[in-house]
Amino acid sequence: MGSSEGTECPACHLSSLTMSVITVDVPYFGEVILSTIICPLCGMKSTDVHPVGVREPARYVLQIRSAADLDVRVVRSSTSKLSIPEIGLVVEPGSALDGYITNVEGVLRKLLEVVRTMERDLGDDKERIEKARGLIGLLESVIAGNSANDGPLTLILEDPLGNGLMASSDGRVVRSLLDGEWGQGPIQ
Ligand SMILES: [Zn+2]
Repeated sequence: MGSSEGTECPACHLSSLTMSVITVDVPYFGEVILSTIICPLCGMKSTDVHPVGVREPARYVLQIRSAADLDVRVVRSSTSKLSIPEIGLVVEPGSALDGYITNVEGVLRKLLEVVRTMERDLGDDKERIEKARGLIGLLESVIAGNSANDGPLTLILEDPLGNGLMASSDGRVVRSLLDGEWGQGPIQ
């Protein structure tokens, strides 16, 4: 555990940030550094993750077929993109989003929260409300350990800097290296 200080808070500009760094052992992968930045005055807090050692631009693909797949470890960094193509869900990377260490269930619960919030803001747009409710039902069902009626959902994590990852004990997570297809190239 270490800490460093001196960067101005982007939220209040009144104080300098305190950063703490801890190392977390991720099963079936290895050590990952979890850094937390806190502003002592306004309470602004931000976390991010990156693995110890060599990092390669990579894509991880998991088909969520059973309750056991919900336990697969997910390290989502601020440079990771998450998507579930079957239902058109994409979480773009961005510094505004915190990095965190979780599992597939944790990712699905976060997505569920996002869709629920979206649904509440739809007003009386009946078509979109119906669509959102269908999505909520599907996510709840998969979180409960049921497989989706139309086949398993596929969770894809892509990280051009190799900071994010998914790790399992067997071959359930398929890893491949990313090449130029990312589009804009590595995120700065
Ligand atoms: Zn602040």
